[in-house]
Amino acid sequence: MMATILVVEDEAALRETLEYTLQREGYTVLTAADGREALHKARTERPDLIILDILLPGIDGFEVCRLLRQEMSVPILMLTARADEIDKVVGLEMGADDYVTKPFSMRELMARVKALLRRVQLDRSEAERARESATPLRFGDLVIDVARREVRRGGQLLHLKPKEFDLLLFLARHPGVVLSRNLILERVWGWDFGGGTRTVDVHIRWLREKIEPDPKHPTRIITVRGVGYRFDG
Ligand code: CA
Repeated sequence: MMATILVVEDEAALRETLEYTLQREGYTVLTAADGREALHKARTERPDLIILDILLPGIDGFEVCRLLRQEMSVPILMLTARADEIDKVVGLEMGADDYVTKPFSMRELMARVKALLRRVQLDRSEAERARESATPLRFGDLVIDVARREVRRGGQLLHLKPKEFDLLLFLARHPGVVLSRNLILERVWGWDFGGGTRTVDVHIRWLREKIEPDPKHPTRIITVRGVGYRFDG
């Protein structure tokens, strides 16, 4: 999905050039000609990135940036013209993420826009991963705390060896899916592991003794004859 970019620039010619260039690149573009309009559109439309000129009538770009920073984490790319503005932006007093100095080429601006959006995307997926690992996986009375690498059954802490934990986590992240011994071996032990698929069977047996109500008749880790195993939770 393409990003929405808010362009804040009072000079009509530059604003239109930016709008045209960004649209041609596939972005959805919103525009504002002064600080007040910029604040309003940023708050109501929630753009993915803001290109913000500093010298604006009324509320200037510095103030817009400062106010928005208190409310949202949208990346802000400042357009600067004067040396003293640059100093202020570079000093990060404003909380801007990047800046370009006027006059700039559209190619340069586009490169900065793409880099900023990529960075935000990366931060976002990292945050998602962090949140994912912060939420324990639950299967009945079995709770896998990924962040702490702890497993509890009925509230009781189980003592799993590191590889047993890795194996359980890999299985638990693919509930209901038949996983071959080779795939398990590759993902849990890695390509360079010298041992064979017997290792998987041995660890499954140990794991069952710890997490199955009745290890002789497993209901959590099911053997799929001739293939591998399936985690049923
Ligand atoms: Ca201006």
